[in-house]
Order: sequence, then C-alpha cells, then structure tokens
Amino acid sequence: MPSPARAPQSLTIGALGTGSTATDCSKRRSSRHQQLDAWEEETLSEAIELARFVNLRLRSGFVVAGIELSSEPMVDPLGREAVAHTRVVGRRFSVLIRAGLSDAELSVTLYHEILEAAAVASVSAPLAVIEFNEADFERAARAMHDMVGLASPENLDRMLEHFGFSDD
Ligand SMILES: [Zn+2]
Repeated sequence: MPSPARAPQSLTIGALGTGSTATDCSKRRSSRHQQLDAWEEETLSEAIELARFVNLRLRSGFVVAGIELSSEPMVDPLGREAVAHTRVVGRRFSVLIRAGLSDAELSVTLYHEILEAAAVASVSAPLAVIEFNEADFERAARAMHDMVGLASPENLDRMLEHFGFSDD
C-alpha cells in the first residue's frame, strides 16, 4: 500500500489536522465573469447536478467524498474572497463551493478544484501539473470547460487523463 500522499508545500494553504490538507481558491472575479459571459449562452439549457459527483470514484483512485454549497461568505487564510475550499484526505476530496454561481462558473470551479486536489493528493503528480500555481489551475479549468463542456463525472476523468493521471 502506498503511504498517504503528502502535499507539495507550494500547493498547501493551511493544514487541517493530521493527514489532511486544504486548498482555498480565490478567483479574480471581474475578469473571470467577463470571460464566462459568452459561455453562459451556450450552456443555459444544461445544468450541473451536484448529486452525481458525491461518492464519485475518479481516475487514479481519487474519490469525491462530498460536494456542498455554502451560502456563507468564504475567505482564504489571507482574508481574500474565495469561491471554493477543498479538503484533501489521502485520495478523498471534500469540496465546498460558494452558492449562487452560474452553471459555467460552477463547471470551471469543479474542474479547478478536482485538478488541484488531484495534484495535491498525488505522491508524484504528473509533470503537466506538478508546478501549477493557482492561476495555472484556473487556466486549465477554463480550457477544459471550453473543450469538453460542463463538468460531469466523465469529463472530470477526461481531464485527469488529459493531464497525465494514470488509470490505476
Ligand atoms: Zn485553486
């Protein structure tokens, strides 16, 4: 059995007790909103059902243990506005996302959180993501959304495959 993953320091913002790490994702909302406006027209008739992601087993043995929406304002440890917070324990992710996002924003946020959590949870993350910072994860998440559409269980696996996470 591999030992539990240790997060690279550069990706860890705040420890949440033994064996767990967390990522807080602040977004530059103004520029992001502008970019998402165009996407929203295409995706208006679709919707993301968060229930489909709960207890979802992904590529490389990652598990989305839970996804919740928060109606409370969220801030990162530096006091900046945050859109999402993901707790990583081993290969299990618990994602908290601010309520009230559009489907397109929620989609990009899901891609971002899962890719970042997968990188944090990996003992040796694929080269493609090992040096990603927050802006890189956001850019990758937008690119996935653009390329394959709204986040879905299948599309999250596609993203992990695209970034080199192995199927084991
Ligand atoms: Zn992030």
